[in-house]
This record gives sequence, C-alpha cells and structure tokens, in this order.
Amino acid sequence: MRTSLLILFFVFSALLSVFAEAPGERFAEIKLEDLRKAYGNNKTLPKGYELQCLIALSRYPELKDTRINFILGDLKTTMAARPQADFIFRKKEDRVYTILINNRAAEREGVSIVELSFAAQVGIIAHEFAHILAYSKMSRLEMILCGGRYFSSPYFHQKIERETDLITIERGFGEQLYEFSDYVLNKSSACDAYKDFKKKFYYQPEEIRQAMLKMKTIYQ
Ligand SMILES: [Zn+2]
Repeated sequence: MRTSLLILFFVFSALLSVFAEAPGERFAEIKLEDLRKAYGNNKTLPKGYELQCLIALSRYPELKDTRINFILGDLKTTMAARPQADFIFRKKEDRVYTILINNRAAEREGVSIVELSFAAQVGIIAHEFAHILAYSKMSRLEMILCGGRYFSSPYFHQKIERETDLITIERGFGEQLYEFSDYVLNKSSACDAYKDFKKKFYYQPEEIRQAMLKMKTIYQ
C-alpha cells in the first residue's frame, strides 16, 4: 500500500512538472507520452520500463538532453551504467551513455530486473542515472582514471557505489532504493556470494534509512 502511494506521488510530481508548462491542460489525460516529452529527449527507453525510467529522470534535470541508451542482457549485477567507448573522441556534451539491464540474472543466481517491484525498479534505475550524472561532470582523463581504479581497487569501487547510492537518496529515491536493497538482501533467492557483494559495496537497508533521516527537507 505504502509503495503504491509512493509510486503515485512520483508519477504525480512528474506530471505536475509537465503541466506547469501548460496550465490549461491541468485536467488532460495522464499519458506516458507527456512524460516522454518532458524527460525522454535523446533517450532510447527499454520496452516495459519506460515509466520507471521517466520517473527516475524527472529528478535528474541535468540529464534532460543527455544521450542514454538501454540494453537488455546478462551481466554480473542487476544494472550497470557506462560511457560509450568513443567518449575519448567526443566533447563532454556529445557523449553517449549506456545502461545495461540484467533480465537474465536468475540463471546465475543474481537478481534480475523482472523480479523487482515497480518501486525497486525505479530505485535501481535512479542509481544508474546518478552514475551518469557523475560521469557527465568528468573530463576524459578523469573518466579513464575512474574506470581503471573502479576495476582495480575494491576500496575505490566501494567508495563510488556508496557515493552513488547517496546521490540517489538525495534525489528523493530513498524509499525506492530501500525497497531494492531490502529485496536483494532479504527476500530474493540470490546466492550468498551475490548478497555478500552487495553488502560490501553498497548501502544496506538500514544505512539508507539513516541517510534519509538526515535529509529532513526531502524526507519529512
Ligand atoms: Zn552502481
């Protein structure tokens, strides 16, 4: 029930932004197309997850025109965000980013996006947009160094993921991230190795709650 209300709140706040630009249409029918117009520029959204992506994007105005593609497939974690390899040759504002979505994790004892609730899907997608927000501020050299350290230093990997979780919470997706984390660690059938990986590198549910308590202006 609480989750449903939160979803309604996010859809509604997203729509308010749309209608703020066109007050005469206040009573217009709620349409996915309206959200797409407001937040979907330069995005190729994955079928079945359009609304989740647009709700998450509504809290990242900096990414309004950023080019982001989604690819469904099999990978180690539930989702991952990365710049397209040609970022070295592109200006910062012309970069293309890819978000990989794992829809086959059950085959390898991980967590697939298809098994998550709507709110948890919004939470993990918002986490990936927080990564892209950070990438969008980096120079080419910073991106290369960040990538190298991410894969070679567990300490740095943990630092990046926890900072990304914190940005996600600061953008108002604390409840959704909590639902994702709580599902993965306490309710999913993921293997222990996967859960240990999540515990080591990411905020755990109680830490998400603690962070939300400190952000009184966002979570009253
Ligand atoms: Zn991440």
